[in-house]
Amino acid sequence: MNVADVIVDVPTMQTNTPYSYLIPDDLKGRLETGMRVVVPFGNGNRKVEGFVVGIGNLAQDKTTTLKSISSIMDLSPVLNNELIKLSSWMANKTYSFQISCLLTMLPSVMKAEYSSTVELIGEIDDKSLANRFKKQQVIPFDEDHFSKAEMAKLSDLKKRNQIKMTYHVQNKAKPKTELAILNQITDFAEVTQEISKNATAQIKLLKLLQKFPDQPLIQRKIVNENAISISAINNFVKKGFVKKIRVEKYRNPYKHQIVLNKPKKLNSDQQIAVNKVDRAIAQHHDRVFLLEGVTGSGKTEVYLQTIQHAINDKRQALMLVPEIALTPQMVGRVKNRFGSQVAIIHSGLSNGEKYDEWRRINQGEAQVVVGARSAIFAPLKNIGLIILDEEHDASYKQDDNPRYHTRDVAIWRAAYHHCPVILGSATPSLESRARAEKGVYDLILLPNRINQQSLPQVTIVDMTQEIEKHGDIFSTELLNDLKQTINQGNQVVLMLNRRGFSSFMLCRDCGHVLMCPNCDISLTMHLDSHTMKCHYCGFEEAIPNICPVCHSKNIRYFGTGTERAAQQLEKLIPEAKILRMDVDTTKRKGAHENILRKFGNHEANVLLGTQMIAKGLDFPDVTLVGVLNADTGLDLPDFRASERTFDLLTQVSGRAGRSDKNGKVIIQTFNPDNYAIKLASTQNYEKFFQKEMELRHLADYAPYYFTIKVTISSLSEHQAAKEAYQVSNYLKGNLEKDTIILGPTPRPIARVKSRYYYQIIIKYKRDQNLDQALKHVQQVSQKEIRKGLRIAIDPEPVNFM
Ligand code: ADP
Ligand code: ZN
Ligand code: ZN
Repeated sequence: MNVADVIVDVPTMQTNTPYSYLIPDDLKGRLETGMRVVVPFGNGNRKVEGFVVGIGNLAQDKTTTLKSISSIMDLSPVLNNELIKLSSWMANKTYSFQISCLLTMLPSVMKAEYSSTVELIGEIDDKSLANRFKKQQVIPFDEDHFSKAEMAKLSDLKKRNQIKMTYHVQNKAKPKTELAILNQITDFAEVTQEISKNATAQIKLLKLLQKFPDQPLIQRKIVNENAISISAINNFVKKGFVKKIRVEKYRNPYKHQIVLNKPKKLNSDQQIAVNKVDRAIAQHHDRVFLLEGVTGSGKTEVYLQTIQHAINDKRQALMLVPEIALTPQMVGRVKNRFGSQVAIIHSGLSNGEKYDEWRRINQGEAQVVVGARSAIFAPLKNIGLIILDEEHDASYKQDDNPRYHTRDVAIWRAAYHHCPVILGSATPSLESRARAEKGVYDLILLPNRINQQSLPQVTIVDMTQEIEKHGDIFSTELLNDLKQTINQGNQVVLMLNRRGFSSFMLCRDCGHVLMCPNCDISLTMHLDSHTMKCHYCGFEEAIPNICPVCHSKNIRYFGTGTERAAQQLEKLIPEAKILRMDVDTTKRKGAHENILRKFGNHEANVLLGTQMIAKGLDFPDVTLVGVLNADTGLDLPDFRASERTFDLLTQVSGRAGRSDKNGKVIIQTFNPDNYAIKLASTQNYEKFFQKEMELRHLADYAPYYFTIKVTISSLSEHQAAKEAYQVSNYLKGNLEKDTIILGPTPRPIARVKSRYYYQIIIKYKRDQNLDQALKHVQQVSQKEIRKGLRIAIDPEPVNFM
């Protein structure tokens, strides 16, 4: 074994394949697949990071031209064989580079510029190496610090678990440490004699040490929990009975007490669902189940009990939730069932916390992982079940390189581990539901709410008439119900749909709309900071008093943000105590959780928010749900616009009447006859599915056709357009006749951050030439990159803006 195959951190088409490097003698037999290494690359002395993806043997005469690996970055693999295989499949499937896929799989703290430390655990024979650790337990680990020979020894020690490695990001993810004491006493009987009978604290401490003679004891805990004074501890240090050390503190992102919660007795539909999945777990069958259950039908309980079966089977479970639905409530339900066996990964954690959770998973300390999209790469080694809750959610698709869909990765990993997948939703994606229809997935239905609780009664209010009457965003009917609900001591959830354009400024004299100077999008008004902001590039400026074009004072703000809605509502109903939940109020860490806790404690009776509040909330006293504007998503240039509207309305309606109280929903709309809105009001997914399938069939869209979006962008509009036509001509000449090519057209938001975007949509059923043609486009685009041109290929896109 003298040669390693390395994927280098140079994301280009030419380097999208492993490079061979010589393994230096001191690393022979120690280097493993999945470790990161530093290698020389190209001419000169440039050094780059790389991943070892294979180790092999080459005849001596073949290796003379090879460069050598400079050093190792890990003492043990950070990626296992499964994930390396997955990265290569993913790169191919998403037209991205394998290095981007590999980097995507690791916590960000390991991607950034980092340093590492090694920590000595216990004694080592090697005198010279031991001397390096003489003054402290933990020392920096880098190639300037250790000779090659020492590196080699460290690698051996790591295998025997005598040292521990830790990665840090400068100033950011330094592991927290705290003081602990380590026992030095060998003969406890002798020491007991030495201590005076009156020194109660010292006797207590001695007993504690006797009980845990081999492990570090945290000083803070000894003082707080055992009521032993610091002076007693210091006294022991002086006598040499204990020695003080610093130990790494595990950041625990979960701050709540765990109240273990027992499995519920399943109803018969849930039981059938659990049985089916259990059988697949037991038989190691990589079956995909589509669990279609109305809101409040107890899908989560099905997840929890099947997870339990995977654990009983000595395997692990991976549960994915859309970021926005990863509410403290959801996390709490899983934590309260499985306790410390659960690791959680979501954007609310600090980088350090994420890294700690990842490490717990990698070391096999977590049996259940709950997380948003990126958690699909959790380094679990023996998966028995994968769950995607709210499988239709658009956030499962990554909108950046690598443009993977979590569902595809889940199904790939399930096949690798021979385990089932549950795709759960009240409103499955049309793609998944159609696959179930064909028998590719196994459909399981939960048609009823728990305890036969009826679905909430839904009223559609036509706002065209309301606006004529009084011009408010609250209809008379909604206001009446709001008052009544509040007076009864119940609670209300109000949703303000903010997809699309809202809160923009218009001059009534000249018609000027305040636009972002860098993007083709209107600026959004933010009352809290008194600024107009661009949601695409972050540009911001003060709210103007006069029109910047004609200097008229006759300017008006259109659309309504949550702030304005809250202000209006407070005026109309003074007894409304409102909590606002949107991007602005949830920016700070823990803010999201805080708002929900307050609402749960009845510190407010109205929760007013954006889409954020539509998913996963389970509050028993919410009896009224109001949707202020159901339409804003409907006219977006996106073939899934109706599906999204249907999903959102169904989800948010499901927040009402979840316990024994009846729920009511009021949907305000300017399109009362729209089928998506009408069918959402009866939560009739099956009927919506039929209707929407007909329309997709007529228009040749998914799930009848596959879609690929090619986006061409440049700072020069001319260059973007020219290249877009070239790409589209090339595709037209090389793809099969049945394949449909739309465009190129400027993207709906044609300019963002001063770049101009053109897009081409490819629709196809089967096209043998497609892969090669797109690889060619990818290759050609590489040459143009230096000229500032970018080409992105997005399979099954969910975003057309
Ligand atoms: P979904 O995820 O389908 O919206 P949930 O899992 O949140 O539904 O269940 C709705 C409510 O019913 C929750 O409060 C849950 O605790 C409760 N529940 C679920 N299954 C049962 C059961 N078998 N018996 C009693 N209550 C249940
Ligand atoms: Zn004007
Ligand atoms: Zn902008």
